Amino acid sequence: MRIVALKESHPGETRVAMVPDLVGKFVTLGYEVGIEPGAGENALLSDDLYTAAGAVVSADAVDDADVVISVQPPDESVIRRLRPGAATISFLPAQSCLPLISLLRERHVTSFAMELIPRISRAQSIDALTSQSLVAGYRCAIVAVEALRRFFPLNMTAAGTVPPAEVVVLGAGVAGLQAIATAKRLGAVVRAYDVRPSSAEEIASMGAHPIDLELETLEGAGGYAREMSEDRAARQRELLTPYVAAADALITTAAVPGREAPRLVTRQMVEQMAPGSVVVDLAADSGGNVEGSRPGETVQIGHAQVWGGSNVPAQMPGPASRLYAQNIVNLVTLMTADGAFAPDFEDEIVATSCVTHGGDVRHEPTRALLE
Ligand code: NAD
Repeated sequence: MRIVALKESHPGETRVAMVPDLVGKFVTLGYEVGIEPGAGENALLSDDLYTAAGAVVSADAVDDADVVISVQPPDESVIRRLRPGAATISFLPAQSCLPLISLLRERHVTSFAMELIPRISRAQSIDALTSQSLVAGYRCAIVAVEALRRFFPLNMTAAGTVPPAEVVVLGAGVAGLQAIATAKRLGAVVRAYDVRPSSAEEIASMGAHPIDLELETLEGAGGYAREMSEDRAARQRELLTPYVAAADALITTAAVPGREAPRLVTRQMVEQMAPGSVVVDLAADSGGNVEGSRPGETVQIGHAQVWGGSNVPAQMPGPASRLYAQNIVNLVTLMTADGAFAPDFEDEIVATSCVTHGGDVRHEPTRALLE
């Protein structure tokens, strides 16, 4: 059995699905490990490191692969090189990948989507949405620190006292909690808001102050947030306005699965922020939590610099790749028996994350999109 990691071709993607440190795990499972030349170079992982770890670096590696692993979906030319019955493991967002998914089906390739791994305890070590959100949340706090021209912590000196920065975090899921933890470690006073009922306790456990807007909580399926009605969204924005206006740094990380990012902050709200303030919108490339933010750019709104995130985990390719590669190792381990790649479709994790298999689209919502 041969498992092969691709060199990512998606613009701006710096991560890689396999790291030299983990090659040995696949070898122990019974795989030959192949890697495309230069696959790790943007994460500062040279071909020599992979070779020393026991992988074969080859431009033809894909041709006789049983399993192909990548961060972004494999492109059409890769899928056409795979033999029927081969498997791919990557992120595979249905909305933007329908032609690729059709091709995977047509070519009888079995594909697994990392964003479909169920959020259950047994799958935590495979959950790449969590591992990559952790990286993104940390990075958001660091971007805010870098852009803000003032101290994060309180400083009491002989020359006087400098108050700490006031940071507001909206959306306290995996990324938001990591942004909170990072901002707290750097000494800021942090306030945070989320619509889920358990979030106040989670925010407080990080040493931050939960913002209580006295609005109904919004919990949907699987512990995720539900979408807001337009009335609820308007009321939430109104109640959040004074908190946003008082923030030196505003970090937004709110998301609702399968939907555009909720609009939490209007341009008018940002215009009330003081000179020198900073806004970091992690959700910029899924529609934006902040009106006017642009993915991959910093724009000025009123007195504030507004930074829009774009594939933020790729801005820390070393740790992001390490965590993602460990998620992949754990998934492949689950799907390997006696040295062979043998996914058990009775297993919830396998069944839920499989998109195509044996010439069918097994993931119901994706099949509906294709019909
Ligand atoms: P996510 O990326 O989908 O969303 C980020 C956050 O935005 C969520 O906390 C959500 O409640 C919040 N949000 C949505 N609409 C909002 C609004 N209008 N205003 C403010 N905040 C809003 O979520 P996530 O970070 O992936 O995790 C969401 C939940 O899943 C959390 O409860 C988390 O603890 C849980 N989780 C469970 C597992 C597991 O059991 N394996 C793994 C990861 C996360």
